Amino acid sequence: MAQSVFKTVIARYKTILENEKEWIEPSFRKPPYDLVWHRDYSLTKDKFSVNTLNGRLKSDYYSEGMKKYFDHDTYKFGTAKLVNKQGKYFVHIPVTYDIPESDLSDICNVVGIDRGINFLVAAYDSNHQSKFVNGKAIKQKRANYSKRRKQLQMRKTPSSRRRLKAMGQRENRWMQDINHQVSKALVENNPKHTLFVLEDLTGVRNATEKVRTKDRYVSVSWSFYDLEQKLIYKAKQNESTLIKVNPAYTSQCCPKCGHTEKSNRNKKTHVFTCQSCGYQSNDDRIGAMNLYRMGINYLADNQVPGTVATE
Ligand SMILES: [Zn+2]
Repeated sequence: MAQSVFKTVIARYKTILENEKEWIEPSFRKPPYDLVWHRDYSLTKDKFSVNTLNGRLKSDYYSEGMKKYFDHDTYKFGTAKLVNKQGKYFVHIPVTYDIPESDLSDICNVVGIDRGINFLVAAYDSNHQSKFVNGKAIKQKRANYSKRRKQLQMRKTPSSRRRLKAMGQRENRWMQDINHQVSKALVENNPKHTLFVLEDLTGVRNATEKVRTKDRYVSVSWSFYDLEQKLIYKAKQNESTLIKVNPAYTSQCCPKCGHTEKSNRNKKTHVFTCQSCGYQSNDDRIGAMNLYRMGINYLADNQVPGTVATE
C-alpha cells in the first residue's frame, strides 16, 4: 500500500511537470490505491480477497457476468484500482486477452461508413445494403445543450461555472454512450473478417467542414474521433479490420462511373445525380458507397483475391 502511495505521488508530479506551463500544487482528494494481482488482491468465482493493513480481508461481491473471465488460460487479470465514489468502494479490474491478428486475405465483407450530422452514420456493404443511423434527435439535443451552455457562460458566477462543468461531463457521457451503441451495432451486424472503411478526418479542418455552417454550433470532431476509436477497438475484438482513406471528393464522385463534379450533388434536395451516367441516389448514401469502393480498391491494391463483390 505504501508503495502505491509513492507511485501515485511521483506520477502526479511528473504529469504536472510535463503538461502544465506553470507549477500547480498537486492535491490528492481521492487517492486511488493500486492492487497487484495475486500480491494485493485475488478473485475467485465467489470471493474477493484483498491485503489490508489489518491483514487479509475476504468479501462477497456481485459476480454476474464475471464467469467467463475465470478461464485463466484466456484471460489475465491486471493491476486493479480501488476507488471511492460517493462513500462506496469500487474495484476496477482490467482484463487482458489475446486476439488473433486478422489477415487481409480473410476479409469477406467490406463496409463503407460515412459520418455526418443528419445521419450519424451511413453505411454501405458488400451485399449492397445501405444502413443509416438517424442523427436528428441527437442534433436537437446537442443544440439544447449548446443553448444552455451559452446561458450559463454569460452568468459567470461560481455556481454557474460548477453547473457548466457538470453539464459538459453529462453531455460527454451521453455522446460516448451513443457512440458505444452505434459502434457495437456496426460490428455485431457484420460478420467476422469485415473491412471497415472510414474517412481519414485528421487533415480536414475540425471535421466541421463536413457540417453545414448553420449546424456548426458544436464541434463534432471530438465525437467523430470517439466513434472511430470505439469502432477500431470493437472491430479488433471481432477479428475485423479498419482502414482510413483520403476523404477528398467522397461526396461528389459517382460511385458507378467515377465521374467527379461538384454539381453531381444537390445539397438542397439531397439528391445525387451523376452528370455523366445519370446515376441517381440519396446524397447521404453516396459517401458510404464511395468509401466502400475505396475499400474494394484497397484490397485489390494489396493483391487480395476477389472474394468480395466488386460491383
Ligand atoms: Zn456516373
